[in-house]
Amino acid sequence: MASWSNWSGAVQGEPQRIVRPETEAELAAALREGDGPVRVVGSGHSFTPLGQTNGTVISLDAVSGVVAADLNALTATVKAGSKIHALGRPLFDLGVGLKNQGDIDRQAIGGAVGTGTHGTGPTLGSLSAEVKGFRLVTAAGEVLECSPASNADVFEAGRVSFGTLGVMSEITLRVRKAYKLREKNWVMPAADCWRDTPKLKEQHRHFEFFWFPHSDSVVAKTLDETEEEVSAPLSSEQMFERGERVSSDQRAFKIGCDLARVVPALSARVQRFFTNASMGASSRARWAHEIFPSARNVRFNEMEYAVPAANGVDCIREVAEAFAKYKVPGVFPIEFRYVKADDIWLSPFYKRDAATISVHQYHRQPFETLFGVAETIFRRYGGRPHWGKLHSLKFAELERLYPRWGDYQAVRRRLDPQGKLLNSYLKQLFGA
Ligand SMILES: Cc1cc2nc3c(=O)[nH]c(=O)nc-3n(C[C@H](O)[C@H](O)[C@H](O)COP(=O)(O)OP(=O)(O)OC[C@H]3O[C@@H](n4cnc5c(N)ncnc54)[C@H](O)[C@@H]3O)c2cc1C
Repeated sequence: MASWSNWSGAVQGEPQRIVRPETEAELAAALREGDGPVRVVGSGHSFTPLGQTNGTVISLDAVSGVVAADLNALTATVKAGSKIHALGRPLFDLGVGLKNQGDIDRQAIGGAVGTGTHGTGPTLGSLSAEVKGFRLVTAAGEVLECSPASNADVFEAGRVSFGTLGVMSEITLRVRKAYKLREKNWVMPAADCWRDTPKLKEQHRHFEFFWFPHSDSVVAKTLDETEEEVSAPLSSEQMFERGERVSSDQRAFKIGCDLARVVPALSARVQRFFTNASMGASSRARWAHEIFPSARNVRFNEMEYAVPAANGVDCIREVAEAFAKYKVPGVFPIEFRYVKADDIWLSPFYKRDAATISVHQYHRQPFETLFGVAETIFRRYGGRPHWGKLHSLKFAELERLYPRWGDYQAVRRRLDPQGKLLNSYLKQLFGA
């Protein structure tokens, strides 16, 4: 018996075996011969029990690297186990970069694509939306080339499929010529933020904000392309270390979290302290893959919903007002981002431009009240949950939210008729 846990520590598992294939043939054998449920994991950064199994865990840690980049077509093919932080420099050396990234770069690209991981930008889709094709190894160990021209239904369904259609071994992504970004951060009164958000969203390639709901201020952030000189790019080792480093700010924030955990009535005061501490503006410019990710080393659990973009500001205001009204304990900010619509069957952004709103709770503190209050509001706005983040929806509600739900299940049943890839959480989700 082995043991496995997700990043936040809230999901634990005791799989019979953890297998680490080094080749696609070994991956196929692991799928064919492994005891079910067989679950593939990336970095385990999902908050939902996607990787939990008492059968077989497949880790693709040994299947990493850039296979090829095409500078004319602007595509790059990467091994699915590659951590995003390990892709930045090799892609840069080939002259290209990812079009957008999320808050961190610790995830495996297969895991990030698997759940529709996204950054912010109204003209930019999730990482899954930039997938041009992939190689999928099914539960039976068969290898499928998937693209709009080959196994098209598996391609449509598979770009957000969280390991339920098979395991991607290689992924081809649309990329762009390597580019630089200037980041600006500043604190603004919440009322100004509600007024200016539509304008800021249009004016910048990337715009997002963090609202500490017990305070009247938000920390806003923009990223825009720049041609200015920047420092030499970091090596892959430096990128790895940068993301693991625990800064003095993070240590102080952790102390604040522990204080508010022991005395929840102090939550509002702790939150105000940290908003005040981030007062003032900052700015820096770097190569894109270096500027997107931040280190996030104070552990938490998270819920995120994607609501229609036009209603995003109303929705976050309601959530923050509810947190203040019910004195919900917790000190993490609420994060607000924009994501462009796509056409992936189970994507939260399916045919809908979205604002994503994320709420977080310190990992040593119960999250049920905080997430419950927020989820009631998200659902009223027709929100769709992030597959890697906590939510309470079951298949009847999901079926209503996703017009192609039935088509997805048909592809899934065809590729995995025995349900070998489904753990008990996924069986509930799919009503299987
Ligand atoms: C600190 C932190 C910050 C985050 N920031 C963001 C953010 O900015 N934006 C955002 O959208 N999300 C964010 N997330 C959520 C995270 O990006 C997703 O949950 C992502 O799926 C995690 O990637 P992973 O490699 O850890 O995958 P895992 O959690 O290990 O797996 C995720 C899913 O993908 C499947 N999978 C993994 N590899 C493959 C493969 N090769 N083929 C098929 N399926 C596969 C797994 O079976 C599983 O179902 C964050 C999470 C944390 C903890």
